[in-house]
Amino acid sequence: MATGHILIVEDEKDIADLLRDYLLNEGYTTSWLENGDEVVPYIKKKPPALILLDLMLPGTDGIEICREIRKFSDVPIIMVTAKVEEIDRIIGLEIGADDYVCKPFGPKEVVARVKAVLRRFLSEVSEKVLQAGSIRLNKETYQVAIDDTELTLTPSEFAILREMMAQPDRVFSRAQLISRVQGYDFEGYERTIDFHIKNLRKKLAKHLPDQDIIRSVYGVGYKMVPPTEKTSV
Ligand code: CA
Repeated sequence: MATGHILIVEDEKDIADLLRDYLLNEGYTTSWLENGDEVVPYIKKKPPALILLDLMLPGTDGIEICREIRKFSDVPIIMVTAKVEEIDRIIGLEIGADDYVCKPFGPKEVVARVKAVLRRFLSEVSEKVLQAGSIRLNKETYQVAIDDTELTLTPSEFAILREMMAQPDRVFSRAQLISRVQGYDFEGYERTIDFHIKNLRKKLAKHLPDQDIIRSVYGVGYKMVPPTEKTSV
């Protein structure tokens, strides 16, 4: 049985009821909010394990809510939209959601997404040492090494690399990276992320000169491609 408290933000009662029934059946507990204005105050008081967030709501809309939450919390968010075309637009806005589903959805599909997002989130939190090719990062000692050579990174560079190594090949928007390094950076502007990425690339390139490890994804953000191993001759 799965566990965790899921917050359903949805103004259509039928949909909220359907989601609740399926989630309860899987072992989750749920709460339901139908007005966008209630969401942020609720989460600050009672942080859930995950939020299913409808885009169009009375009061504050889903996009604004997601932005607000990312200023203070990493809680997994699955955005729910009524139009599949909306998904590209929302991803482009870099609001920091973890996944997207489109209405009409099968409740089983939504439950599967909830499980997958939670599993990913929890494994990110629990692994102490991350390895990507020859790069090794220790979350507890804050050490990063390539083969046996230690790298000197700033706290922000370390935080960015840690997030990317936890999920290789995942594309991170700048907003997502900002929300993860904001503990170190008070001025979390998108340019600041570009600046840290530039420096991080330089440091990695010193040891792995021929590899393009942190790649720009046009219009979205960045992703990490683990270095390929050197083949010994
Ligand atoms: Ca709605």
